[in-house]
Amino acid sequence: MEKVLKALGIKDINDGCSTGKNFFASGDIIESYSPVDGKLIAKVKVANESDYEKVIQVASEAFKVWRNVPAPKRGEIVRQFGEKLRAKKEDLGRLVSYEMGKSYQEGLGEVQEMIDICDFAVGVSRQLYGLTMHSERENHRMYEQWHPLGIVGIISAFNFPVAVWNWNTALAWICGDVCVWKPSSKVPLCAVACHHIWNEVAAANDLPEGISCLLVSPGSIGEKMCEDGRVPLVSATGSTRVGRIVGAKVAARFGRSILELGGNNAIIISNHADLQTSLPGIVFGAVGTAGQRCTSTRRLIIHEDIYDDVKNKLINAYKQLVIGDPLNEKNHVGPLIDKNAVKDYLTSIERVIAEGGKFIVPGGVLEGKGYESGCYVKPCIAEAKNDFEIVQHETFAPILYIMKYKTIEEAIELQNGVPQGLSSSIYTLNMREMERFLSASGSDCGIANVNIGTSGAEIGGAFGGEKETGGGRESGSDSWKAYMRRQTNTINYGTKLTLAQGIKFDI
Ligand code: NAD
Repeated sequence: MEKVLKALGIKDINDGCSTGKNFFASGDIIESYSPVDGKLIAKVKVANESDYEKVIQVASEAFKVWRNVPAPKRGEIVRQFGEKLRAKKEDLGRLVSYEMGKSYQEGLGEVQEMIDICDFAVGVSRQLYGLTMHSERENHRMYEQWHPLGIVGIISAFNFPVAVWNWNTALAWICGDVCVWKPSSKVPLCAVACHHIWNEVAAANDLPEGISCLLVSPGSIGEKMCEDGRVPLVSATGSTRVGRIVGAKVAARFGRSILELGGNNAIIISNHADLQTSLPGIVFGAVGTAGQRCTSTRRLIIHEDIYDDVKNKLINAYKQLVIGDPLNEKNHVGPLIDKNAVKDYLTSIERVIAEGGKFIVPGGVLEGKGYESGCYVKPCIAEAKNDFEIVQHETFAPILYIMKYKTIEEAIELQNGVPQGLSSSIYTLNMREMERFLSASGSDCGIANVNIGTSGAEIGGAFGGEKETGGGRESGSDSWKAYMRRQTNTINYGTKLTLAQGIKFDI
């Protein structure tokens, strides 16, 4: 790991702020421990209020320059950033895996998502289209155009330490915005590493400071950003608890927010499903990233005719799971992020039992050789009811709830019967069921899949969810529009003033 850290510019003690050139910070020092082996990776000095002020001022000045750079030229900078990521993919992927605890394959996958969104954004930089409308008035032309917003504040969660930042920045940059990133303090080194990479691109192109800024900082600085009228858009990824604070604070000053919050994702397994091909996807959705994906599968809604069969197959599949060091490709399940997450996992298990649930695959914390960090837990399965309080709540750990249904209508009602609305899926070969699930009276989630699981979205689609998941959309499709302001322009090229709606005003 020493070589990886060196290649990414990580020292024993790092400054957690950057405006795109040097690093600085005047706040406290935090330590980043790996959940993989419990060892200290490195320390980071965080931002205090005066660092925050400096960063916002530099970013404000940078915006005045960046907004006037032609969008395809901004795209060229993003292209170069994507190229740098290609060169650093293995190192950054390894750091993501070691600091966050996801498998090395998933760490690489996260960096690949960054590369993909850069490619996507380069294309979009030539397609920031507005519409042209026909004016109702003679000799008038009417059209709309999209302008950049200004500073985009990005608050990110620990479980996607690098990709979510880049989903936002790649689009924001080509749109002409500048970005200020407050990453999760649980994975600060990934953020510092990303900024070293950005700073190289900024230097090579002689860019003004402030187009990409970093503020490793506590939640209080995130809150300050939410209250700051100089930050027109805050894109926040995290729990519903934090999203509630962010959403309210940004709305109170009429700012805009993109909220990407918790999920409580279900798969419906129909009696028409092809179980042979579906089981691996279902198990990966539930235990992959140790259940720490916003799109992790938390509930299985199984048709009563195949319930016992699926249950037995799941018990069997879980017996084969190998838990251990995520950097070792032979292991299926790595650690939770920290001991607080382990505590939440144990509390949730107790609550399932207290509410009448029955574990068919029991949970527990692993101890001994290879599990010294104290963060490795057993993926578990409980038979539970959808209306249990604990089932209605997102526990960020590998706990899977299973339940029965009779009719497709009942299954959809169960699937929708939680406060969150991120991802959903149905396994069926029955066309009527599939279309019912995808129809307006089907899944109420932002993502609805057929014959694939709830996790693992592609960057080409708009990503996000409804209800308490926050309603935000990021990444593909026309998500770029959230990073711009729309302006409608009407031009009179005639010799008469004509009022709209036929209004007469003679003077
Ligand atoms: P979290 O809510 O604890 O923290 C998220 C971020 O918010 C961190 O950077 C944190 O420092 C910051 N924060 C904390 N208090 C704040 C405040 N008062 N004001 C502003 N910012 C504040 O989440 P986490 O534990 O890092 O991540 C897990 C959660 O994120 C899960 O609920 C998961 O579902 C969700 N998530 C959602 C998506 C999505 O796209 N919907 C993606 C990834 C993660």
